[in-house]
Amino acid sequence: MEEINAIIFGHKNPDTDSICSSLVMQKYNKNNGWNTKAVRLGEINKETTFVLNYLGLEAPVLINKVEDGQSVILVDHNEFSQSADNIENAKIEMVVDHHRIANFETKEPLYYTAKPYGCTCTILYEEFKKANMKIEKTEAVLMLSAIVSDTLLFKSPTCTKKDIEACNELAEIAGIDVNTYGLEMLKAGTDLSDYTSEQLINIDSKKLASGDFKFQVAQVNTASIEDVLKNKEEIEKAIKDVIKTNELKLFVFLITDIINSNSQAIVLGDNTEVFEKAFNKKLENNMAFLEGVVSRKKQVVPFILNNI
Ligand code: MG
Ligand code: MG
Ligand code: MG
Repeated sequence: MEEINAIIFGHKNPDTDSICSSLVMQKYNKNNGWNTKAVRLGEINKETTFVLNYLGLEAPVLINKVEDGQSVILVDHNEFSQSADNIENAKIEMVVDHHRIANFETKEPLYYTAKPYGCTCTILYEEFKKANMKIEKTEAVLMLSAIVSDTLLFKSPTCTKKDIEACNELAEIAGIDVNTYGLEMLKAGTDLSDYTSEQLINIDSKKLASGDFKFQVAQVNTASIEDVLKNKEEIEKAIKDVIKTNELKLFVFLITDIINSNSQAIVLGDNTEVFEKAFNKKLENNMAFLEGVVSRKKQVVPFILNNI
């Protein structure tokens, strides 16, 4: 491949996969002699902070928009609504992702690697293997952290055999016990105590659209749904503000109990009937309990899209 000078970033409201896959991609490119730099599109969450602290790494630099014609590499997302501002005028050189492809268009040809795995880092792990590239301990920890995060320690229905295999081999390279490390990392992410309601609904929030039906699905991980619901009124006020600002038809806030693998959904907007149809449930106090639901990507978004 010809030389690429580009910045690499994951989606807005970055999660552990978005940050780790940017850093791993940077290393992969460096090994190939390409000059690329990982950046980020938002605050680092507490789970990712745990990972970076564990490795003694600095977070990638924060950017808010991309310049016209700037070369970029997208990881862990493709939808422009989740990407950097002005993305439609950037030169997208490459995408490595594990999500549906939507709201995405380029003017020029590009490298695009999409696999329906549980994590972008599982795809990157395969790329290292394919290139016969040695995986260092730092990248091993970054990749296994992302896999644990996206698959909730293999409990999410998005988890594939490839993710488990990759994670186990990475754990061996890193000399880490995945269960012990993974639980500690996930636990770090459930500390929601010092977030305002506005921040809470933005830690992991994705803008989506089907035609002109714009909606947003946010998610937090917790060990106690009850604890989060103590601030229900304030959370609902914050959600209503976002609905107004972003002209959304629907906002779904998933409070996911990662111990018992269930989610409580707070659902607001003018078109909550879409959610009710999707899950065959009547909302009570703007809420519905979703038994066994932990994955926005697999267990929530497709059902909403099918009922719009
Ligand atoms: Mg992600
Ligand atoms: Mg991901
Ligand atoms: Mg996620």
